[in-house]
Amino acid sequence: MIRINVLTVFPEMFGPVKEQSILGKAGEKGAIEINLINIRDFTEDKHRRTDDTPFGGGCGMLMTPQPVFDALRSVEGIKEQPILYMSPRGRILDEDMIRELAEVEEFTILCGHYEGVDQRILDHWNMREVSIGDYVLTGGELPAMVLIDAVSRFIPGVLGNEESAEDESVYSGLLEADQYTRPRDFEGMEVPEILTGGDHKKIRLWQLKESIRITAERRPEMLETWVRSEPELDGFTKKEKKEITDLIKSLTGKKTC
Ligand code: SAM
Repeated sequence: MIRINVLTVFPEMFGPVKEQSILGKAGEKGAIEINLINIRDFTEDKHRRTDDTPFGGGCGMLMTPQPVFDALRSVEGIKEQPILYMSPRGRILDEDMIRELAEVEEFTILCGHYEGVDQRILDHWNMREVSIGDYVLTGGELPAMVLIDAVSRFIPGVLGNEESAEDESVYSGLLEADQYTRPRDFEGMEVPEILTGGDHKKIRLWQLKESIRITAERRPEMLETWVRSEPELDGFTKKEKKEITDLIKSLTGKKTC
């Protein structure tokens, strides 16, 4: 069970994410608890404002320290847990960070708005700034939802037994092979014959070769890392392993595995 506290001025944005799909089910099963904290509930401003103009000029508004400090103080055990601030200045969210967060019992996310937050909030609470990519969004709520969704897939009990986060693109070390479902023929577009033949060994080999081909084309650096990790290729015959090695050689010009 993991508890994620989210400080936001727009808690209602999280409604559908909290209640539906895999995250909704994970909440029902008690695998994940998303605790929404409305920063506005803590403001001492008589107009319930949570922002003010920046010192030194510049356009836009900044979130003020007082409501955020008090909202953070309302979280039990806040000093013992990671506190993240979603920010385009932050370290880009990646697999390592996601796996690390999935290991902790509780963490807190601050969603910024307007032009961002007063720096004293980040300094005093020793916040880790996390970005979801090199572009700028209006608020930290969508980035926080991206992070929560990605972390939740590593929490036991969130995905069904038949699914595993490890098998997915990127986490497996390769990009996934193309996938198909019914019907076999849709408006003359057919599913590759090998997938409908029922020979699971052949299908596994085809899928791995497709993964390698797609990764070589789209993310050559990822393929290089995978090859360097000397994958075992368990379950493949000597002949199949040679086929795989030859394919990698032809795609990268390097001797492998
Ligand atoms: N003035 C800020 C800057 O230049 O770094 C950008 C502020 S942005 C308009 C408002 C809020 O959206 C930020 O405080 C942050 O919480 C969130 N945000 C925007 N882009 C983001 C990104 N790529 N990753 C994570 N959070 C982001």
